[in-house]
Amino acid sequence: MLHPEIETMSREGIRELQGIRLQETVRRVYDNVPFYQKAFREIGLEPGDIKSVDDLSKLPFTVKQDLRDNYPFDLFAVPKSELVRVHASSGTTGKPIVVGYTQNDINNWADLMARCFAMAGATKDDTVQIAYGYGLFTGGLGCHYGAERLGATVVPISGGNTKRQLMLMQDFGTTVLACTPSYALYLAEEAVHMGIDLPASQLRIGVFGAEPWSDNMRKELENKMGIDAYNIYGLSEVIGPGVSMECQCKNGMHINEDYFIAEVVDPETLEPLPYGQKGELVFTSLLKEAFPVIRYRTRDISVLIEEKCDCGRTFVRMERVAGRTDDMLIIRGVNVFPSQIESVLLAIGETEPHYQLVVDRKGAMDDLEIWVEVSDKMFSDEIRRLEELERKLRNEIQSVLGISAKIKLVEPRTIPRSEGKAKRIVDKREL
Ligand code: ADP
Ligand code: ZN
Repeated sequence: MLHPEIETMSREGIRELQGIRLQETVRRVYDNVPFYQKAFREIGLEPGDIKSVDDLSKLPFTVKQDLRDNYPFDLFAVPKSELVRVHASSGTTGKPIVVGYTQNDINNWADLMARCFAMAGATKDDTVQIAYGYGLFTGGLGCHYGAERLGATVVPISGGNTKRQLMLMQDFGTTVLACTPSYALYLAEEAVHMGIDLPASQLRIGVFGAEPWSDNMRKELENKMGIDAYNIYGLSEVIGPGVSMECQCKNGMHINEDYFIAEVVDPETLEPLPYGQKGELVFTSLLKEAFPVIRYRTRDISVLIEEKCDCGRTFVRMERVAGRTDDMLIIRGVNVFPSQIESVLLAIGETEPHYQLVVDRKGAMDDLEIWVEVSDKMFSDEIRRLEELERKLRNEIQSVLGISAKIKLVEPRTIPRSEGKAKRIVDKREL
């Protein structure tokens, strides 16, 4: 553990620390961000009303639209001269979401990310290849500063250039790979084509995140690469990667509670839910200077786990995020995330782990087609075998997820590979 005095603090100790930091954050936004001042006044809330974590639910929520409305810098709590960096998230439609950092913010983030790498078992002796995208995306630079802070040797290669990644991985003796799980899969596949035996290489740890993935995908990646793969979660609005991270028990991600307060709320009523119940994750930052957030609604669905973890850390854990509410498909009334379909496909194990969901609307009905690749051998086999496999997949999806979907088995390497976040859904509906 990199920060044992904090990571194993008593629950009361953590709550007390959070209370103090929460009061400071509330004061900071009230004094410096007109948006929050107005929001507080509208509900008659004074900063002094917030005295501990118990008062959290008195605070208003913040949503993505608030960031868009205040584009680019109006939610910042410091003058522009105090900013040392900005990041922005892709924002597929319209303006991106812009976030900012002071020098202290960058320092704190580096400490936080160093802690995350250490949670996965990385040390200063490791060589960390960072294949998350560098640039406005928080993944690359967030990991970079953290791995460097840990004292590891950083290979800042960014995403893409797959053959070169694999060559350097061999030549430099990379031991830790940080990238999206879908890019890790692509790297593993390319390695086989290039005749590189990754399991025999020095690679031993994967720090994978920035997109949903299933536990079955973890097993797939661990086998293909000969590594232990860990899940890391974060979002630009809250800081970037490092909001939570899995420990070596691989049993949910510990939320870095000295930096953030996590809540799970009912997405409809917005009522806070107790530990153990599924709902939308909401985060409040505790140390951020440039871009503090109060009760930010992530749209990510998860569950908070209170039970003590075998690793000795006392921070609550969150379950793997199945997906964001905006990626959720509603197929004839049933809510499904792509990662649940992934889990079923990989459990059957007779296809390749590359898939895409094509949604269309015929009349009033949403039609779901699951495109999934099969091996070369399977594809050149008899039609009858393919038909059998199709039927098997269709039945399994129906029985596990309760939805009917059309299965389309496609040739090897026809589904686009991803160097960053995978595009799992092709939506042909004109909504
Ligand atoms: P963008 O909005 O451009 O995708 P972000 O990097 O801020 O930029 O995306 C954050 C989102 O990515 C999270 O809200 C969540 O939906 C998803 N995400 C990040 N890490 C994970 C993870 N480990 N598992 C599942 N989803 C994740
Ligand atoms: Zn743990």
